[in-house]
Amino acid sequence: MNFHVMTLFPEMIESAVNCSILGKAIERNIISVSAVNIRDYTLDKHKKVDDYTYGGGAGMLMAPQPIYDCHKAITERISGEKKIRTVYVTPQGRVFDQNLAKELSAEEDIIFLCGHYEGIDERVLEEVVTDYVSIGDYVLTGGELPALVMMDCISRLIPGVLSNEESAQTESFDDGLLEYPQYTRPEVWMDKRVPDVLLSGHHANIEKWRHDMSLERTKQRRPDLYEIYAYKNRKD
Ligand code: SAM
Repeated sequence: MNFHVMTLFPEMIESAVNCSILGKAIERNIISVSAVNIRDYTLDKHKKVDDYTYGGGAGMLMAPQPIYDCHKAITERISGEKKIRTVYVTPQGRVFDQNLAKELSAEEDIIFLCGHYEGIDERVLEEVVTDYVSIGDYVLTGGELPALVMMDCISRLIPGVLSNEESAQTESFDDGLLEYPQYTRPEVWMDKRVPDVLLSGHHANIEKWRHDMSLERTKQRRPDLYEIYAYKNRKD
């Protein structure tokens, strides 16, 4: 998987991806992340990338030309004619979730477009964007953190990125439920015992307990998810 991030702040992307699990995956050539500076593509002699909005209003808008040329340079380099999935990270998009992460993890290349200021001129979005994706119903100062959130989530679904692939398969949201509670040593901590069933070695009972706890936890913490799960698993 190759991520290409169009940004005005490439250092924000580079400093975050070069450590921990993503850093190791990059070192092992399982994924690559290239942060491309949109400013390098401006034709403005003062290197400006933004301008006032037509119709008035506070704040500046990112201009179309540098973004279009930056996107063209990336797509020409990687694909020639093939349409590359281009995700504009925006509070106005579909909310990112595990299903979308799975879908995107099947792509060979993904381009992320990070906005700043008031956002981006609509015309260039119409030209280059294939997906509008948000990380939640709140507004951040820029698109770099959302792009990092999405790259992190997508990367861990790519075989070989996690050392134990099992751990990406039995997690929250995998079957539409939150994960069950987990415990490590010691067996008793602050007078709290690890549930007996987990020490029993009885695999069927452990599985049942985990499923029941997942159901209970989802019901309590995310009734919206529980409702969907219950509907999908109803016995008519
Ligand atoms: N004026 C825009 C609006 O009301 O939709 C918000 C612009 S925001 C200040 C600047 C940039 O941050 C956006 O262009 C987008 O790339 C990014 N951004 C902010 N919040 C986001 C969110 N919840 N999800 C994804 N991207 C976000």
